[in-house]
Amino acid sequence: MAERIYLWGAWRGLWVTSRHFFVNLARHALRALGLPARPGAVTIQFPEDPAALSPRARTRHRLLERPDGSSRCTACLLCETICPAECIRITAEESPDVAIEKRAKSFDIDLGLCVFCGYCVEACPVDAIHMDSNDVAVCSFARKDMIWSLPELMGRTKKPPEAPV
Ligand code: SF4
Ligand code: SF4
Repeated sequence: MAERIYLWGAWRGLWVTSRHFFVNLARHALRALGLPARPGAVTIQFPEDPAALSPRARTRHRLLERPDGSSRCTACLLCETICPAECIRITAEESPDVAIEKRAKSFDIDLGLCVFCGYCVEACPVDAIHMDSNDVAVCSFARKDMIWSLPELMGRTKKPPEAPV
């Protein structure tokens, strides 16, 4: 009966919210007075004042270059194969460098599907893809704009969010 009328659940929810509010209020007040207290919770003012990221944070992908400016990617498709979200699409072509069999003709990542697991980085045998761009503000007004391609992943072109028309 208590579960069906929801009063118990509603009361518990209010109690938890109120407890967090008053505990944090007391912590901030004590610290403002110079008294010892644990830090209270704060609201991150994103994007104006983003929180500092851990050096281990997995952020938007980037593709690394060789000294001659070409992509390190050898189009082996290991990242595409291992991706659990199936959000990487690579087209291979023959490389003009005789020492390298293939290179990526196109390399697309749909960041709207990516779950940021980092498996693609782990799988890459030539260390061609990293997730250390520190870019977490990947957003768009259209799903198609969440697909990042080779020049954007190599930092040669920007992909700003476009306003809907
Ligand atoms: S981080 Fe995970 S989900 Fe995202 S592209 Fe890499 S393997 Fe796929
Ligand atoms: S695993 Fe590395 S080399 Fe292979 S296709 Fe992906 S980024 Fe390119």
